[in-house]
Amino acid sequence: MNRGSDSLLLFGATGDLAQRMLLPSLCALHADKLVAEDLRIIGTARQDMDDAGYRNFARAALEKFLPAERRGGMGTFLNRLHYQPLDATDQAGFTTLAKKVGPIDEGLAIFLSTAPALFEPTIAGLAASGLASDKARIGLEKPLGTDLETSRQINDAVASAFREEQIFRIDHYLGKETVQNLLALRFANILFEPLWNAAHIDHVQITVAETVGLESRVGYYDGSGALRDMVQNHMLQLLALVAMEPPSSFDATAVRDEKVKVLRSLRLVGPDETVTGQYRAGAIGGQAVPGYDEELGKDSDTETFVAIKAHLDNWRWKGVPFYLRTGKRLPTRRTEIVVQFRRVPHSIFAGKGARSEPNRLVIGIQPEENITLSLMAKVPGLDREGLRLREVPLDIRMQDAFAGPTKRIAYERLLLDLIEGDQTLFVRRDEVEAQWDWIDAIRASWGEHGVTPKPYTAGTWGPSAAIALTERDGVHWHE
Ligand code: NAP
Repeated sequence: MNRGSDSLLLFGATGDLAQRMLLPSLCALHADKLVAEDLRIIGTARQDMDDAGYRNFARAALEKFLPAERRGGMGTFLNRLHYQPLDATDQAGFTTLAKKVGPIDEGLAIFLSTAPALFEPTIAGLAASGLASDKARIGLEKPLGTDLETSRQINDAVASAFREEQIFRIDHYLGKETVQNLLALRFANILFEPLWNAAHIDHVQITVAETVGLESRVGYYDGSGALRDMVQNHMLQLLALVAMEPPSSFDATAVRDEKVKVLRSLRLVGPDETVTGQYRAGAIGGQAVPGYDEELGKDSDTETFVAIKAHLDNWRWKGVPFYLRTGKRLPTRRTEIVVQFRRVPHSIFAGKGARSEPNRLVIGIQPEENITLSLMAKVPGLDREGLRLREVPLDIRMQDAFAGPTKRIAYERLLLDLIEGDQTLFVRRDEVEAQWDWIDAIRASWGEHGVTPKPYTAGTWGPSAAIALTERDGVHWHE
């Protein structure tokens, strides 16, 4: 086992993310003996507690958020936990924190699960107390800024104390098994790569659909919107993985070099290539739900839906649209990538009255993890009244194909990589900045053209203009 770190220092240790994802992930890694036996986990937040208090707090979170069958090692896991109260804006407290952390000869993994406004004082405190040593690595949660400028400020602040090789920017989509499997599908099979280009692919669709509305994220979401909350990070990362050239190896530099080239080839989006929407009252799964303004308690111009027709100006993807759409209060919760191949150049069956549909590869990321390739097959029969062809799915359900391995939380993988120091599934500074560059241009164009979100009824697939965005190219959204 690569030990990687003596300790994990968790800022925001009492927050929602820590309770729902980070503590359960760490406990699961402990139960599976994937972290060194003597790895200490030190939590910190302002709330006043001692070690015993935090262990009780963590136990309650695990009982709520970790399935019972994965709680086997909970008792011994809790003994790893320590806690030091700290207001990150008070520099004096970091000296006490450094004492609590103790020696970090082997390494220190730091995870900032706090609001980005706290990143700067936290980093200053870490630097002044010696915790930002050469042996430390720092994991940062999104959002990394609200535009290129604020993202640069955060990146500069982190870079003042940590080298890029020590900085782990989290996009939890990269921790998802199916997202990593996209790379295996493309680069561990000979089948797809020769066809993976403009000559054989008509278009790509990426959908991230949520059924939830604002939930408890009111303050954050209204200042952000769908474009910055979903497209800037998760969807552009998915697009980069679909579109990138084959890296020479599965390592941090090779993979990220290829992703950033894709992000830099994103063409500026024209004013008629985006659609924004905001949900009004409607029904989801038979349940009436209020509109966005009602949930928020005031009028707002924040988009809860966005659809974009994106292009990559490079050799491989010339002329292939990448349609992206994401929204809240859509009919189903679904994240998927659809790769639509072109038609065969000539159908030998046309003379027999048979119609053939182009092949389609659907990569389901959530809630179902599956890969479906639609192929044309002959409908059985003697064909006296003409030959018929029909689409049949070649279906791989990851759950059935790999029944043994436990389905893991995305953060298990990411926390383990942070502890051990593998940056492959983390986002490099140049990627984040290329992402913001493109997103800022879209927002500037909305401002210039006075674009405000069009209403859509909760429980539908967004405003009708989103349908028109693809239909005018003769393309239907995959539903
Ligand atoms: P949260 O529930 O508001 O938790 C914030 C944490 O920061 C708490 O532990 C809080 O504890 C601590 N904190 C607040 N002010 C502090 C200060 N001055 N000094 C030290 N600690 C302080 O937030 P969250 O939902 O866990 O999210 C954490 C980060 O992850 C945010 O950047 C968020 O955008 C990001 N994120 C969250 C999710 C999610 O699903 N929750 C998803 C993606 C990204 P005290 O109040 O006791 O100090």
